[in-house]
Amino acid sequence: MSISKELQEKVDLLEKYDNAYYNGTELIDDTSYDLFKDSILRQLPPDHAFLSKVGHIPTSSWSKEGHTIFMGSQNKVSTEEDIKEWVNNIYKELKVKDGDIEFILQHKVDGFSLESKYDKGIISKSVTRGNSLIGENILDNAKMFRYLPNILKIKKDVVTRGEGVLTKEDFNTIQKKSGDIYKNARSAASGISRRYDGSYSKYIRYITYDINASVKTELKKIEVLDELGFKPVKTHLAHNLKEILSLYNNYKNNIRSSIEYDIDGLVLKLNSIDLQEKMGVKNNRPLGQVALKFSSDQAITTLKDISTQVGRTGKITPVGALESVDLMGSTIKKATLHNFAYIESNFIGLGSEVVIERKGDIIPQVVDVLTPGKPYKMPTVCSSCGGPVTYDGVNLWCYNKNCKEKDIARISYWMEVLDIKGFSEKFIEKLWDMNKLKSISDLYTLKPEDFEGMDGIGEKTVKNFFKALEDTSEMYLQKFIVALGIPSCSTSTADILVESYGDWEAIKKVRPMDLAKIPGFASISSSAVCDGINEVSEMADEILKIVKIKQKKQGTLTGKSFCVTGSLATMSRKEFQDIVVDNGGIAKSSVVTGLTYLVTNDTSSGSSKNTKAQKLGVSIINENQFLDMLGKSTKEIKSKKNEENSVPNIKLEYEPLF
Ligand SMILES: [Zn+2]
Repeated sequence: MSISKELQEKVDLLEKYDNAYYNGTELIDDTSYDLFKDSILRQLPPDHAFLSKVGHIPTSSWSKEGHTIFMGSQNKVSTEEDIKEWVNNIYKELKVKDGDIEFILQHKVDGFSLESKYDKGIISKSVTRGNSLIGENILDNAKMFRYLPNILKIKKDVVTRGEGVLTKEDFNTIQKKSGDIYKNARSAASGISRRYDGSYSKYIRYITYDINASVKTELKKIEVLDELGFKPVKTHLAHNLKEILSLYNNYKNNIRSSIEYDIDGLVLKLNSIDLQEKMGVKNNRPLGQVALKFSSDQAITTLKDISTQVGRTGKITPVGALESVDLMGSTIKKATLHNFAYIESNFIGLGSEVVIERKGDIIPQVVDVLTPGKPYKMPTVCSSCGGPVTYDGVNLWCYNKNCKEKDIARISYWMEVLDIKGFSEKFIEKLWDMNKLKSISDLYTLKPEDFEGMDGIGEKTVKNFFKALEDTSEMYLQKFIVALGIPSCSTSTADILVESYGDWEAIKKVRPMDLAKIPGFASISSSAVCDGINEVSEMADEILKIVKIKQKKQGTLTGKSFCVTGSLATMSRKEFQDIVVDNGGIAKSSVVTGLTYLVTNDTSSGSSKNTKAQKLGVSIINENQFLDMLGKSTKEIKSKKNEENSVPNIKLEYEPLF
């Protein structure tokens, strides 16, 4: 099902915010994400690619590695009714009746996913989930994990899948030693696995459930893993629906609490691998298995207080402080309240009973209000700078200069878009307080001496920071516009501005009536974009005194525009866009009238971009055709990129073991 251009633009932005959140930077993006989320997730058709997206883009100095097998996601159910429906649907699809086929139930271990590979029996890689295609190779730490043998009894190429987990007891020990720095066992395990110093790694246990053995059943896989010295996940066999439900309830009500590590449910799979294959995969989710969760992703709690956050555009977002509540194994104390109109129209106030929801790892949000609370008075001044605020009927805005939260959010956003890593938002705040970093242009006047004597920042981080800064001293106009974070200006709006006007001076002078004439612009509020440009124009001029705009290159792709959908085998989307631009082409983030090519490896997929491209008569080509178009130069670009990023694009092929 295709979605509107406006919605697609919002999804593109959401994706960016999403990554920032997963990477642990408390950016303005969090706020924007929350604001967008409620409306967007509900508007998206259930088969939309965004909903099947899992995980995050790894950012750290661990090297990046492709997975041998795509790390997909699982469908989830959390009630007896839903389990019955799922099983009955399997029976229907496979044309069998209750008792005819076997199922297995396994602990759904609440840890972090890890793929471990062995070359001729010797461990060679341990790759985290990452963005499900490419993760981080944490081999140095993984070698210390328990139940992850470094050498196998057989000299074969082996790939295993499992979860890294801490037992409840080990988690307590680590909390004592580290001074309670981790929120829960899961985040501790994940955090520890990626520590550069390797400390506490020896406490992590690797619980496996999959191996590249060509066997007939899941149970056999477990036997093979056991024989090879792994610790396979606890697995039960069930012969019918009654046994499945009985195991589920017994775990939920009794067994769960006595297990040495946390589980947040059970995984129900068809025991037969053939039958699993028969059921197939949809939206990266295998249909022959499902996660049986012990609790749903919603909870009811009381709103205790409302605070505000100021984003990079000056938008002020209300955040609710909640009576602590357990939701899917995490303690939730805060949730977004979207905007002030939402508070008003739902009579939300202190003491309100609210329903909160948390989907995946995104920030919890208030999705329903059960009882009104004490009337809430909207703030009359900005919580960050104390200056006056403006209410537009939906959102509250701070338009003041020298607003700390807004400044920090802008700087963080610039750094995030341009991949300048290493500093947390707290660190930017420190520099802001010291009057060393008040605006984006200040970034470029910082000197290594400015960091002397500051706690919590290493020499290496500082060095990497200056290197990354240097890399951004010149950039293409499109990137510059995106990194400015112009209010109401999405990535695709930036594409249109660049194509239509060519340079920043011209863009600055654009009037709403000019914009409205551009094809594809009609659905976007032209005056909002112009207002946004106006708002950042002074800041942009300051930056342009230091940062240079790269001239567009001429090359094989000059005069052609490209958009990508789905994943590519040899490069990330970001690399794809860089290659297009480096060869003189235009990289577009959405399918629009006039687009020359949509690049996809799944030409038959019903993705929204595919459908739209077909409707608009845009040529659809696959990755190989795209590479052919580039000819020889591709290999050079790619090998250079590999050196730079040390992302090996060649996936190792593993033969089935037996
Ligand atoms: Zn302010």
